Amino acid sequence: MEALDGNAIAGALYDVFGTEMTTATGVCASCGARSVLAETRVYLRAPGTVVRCASCSAVLMVLVEAYGVTCVDVRGLEALERAQND
Ligand SMILES: [Zn+2]
Repeated sequence: MEALDGNAIAGALYDVFGTEMTTATGVCASCGARSVLAETRVYLRAPGTVVRCASCSAVLMVLVEAYGVTCVDVRGLEALERAQND
């Protein structure tokens, strides 16, 4: 299965968080790597959408859409920091 980057889920993340999230920084709970979400690896057909760490391939986030509502599991993220608006 081919991986996309975090820009592939920009719209879905915007719907959930109400703001642009591809520039937010996620910290991998598995290896501690910090990366902006745009640089994560995204698998759209996993069941649900799976976002993996580009360094260690651990699952950072899972997005599942059910009944028109997108649920996000962010257990794989140690931290999620929004970009500063300047
Ligand atoms: Zn990692």
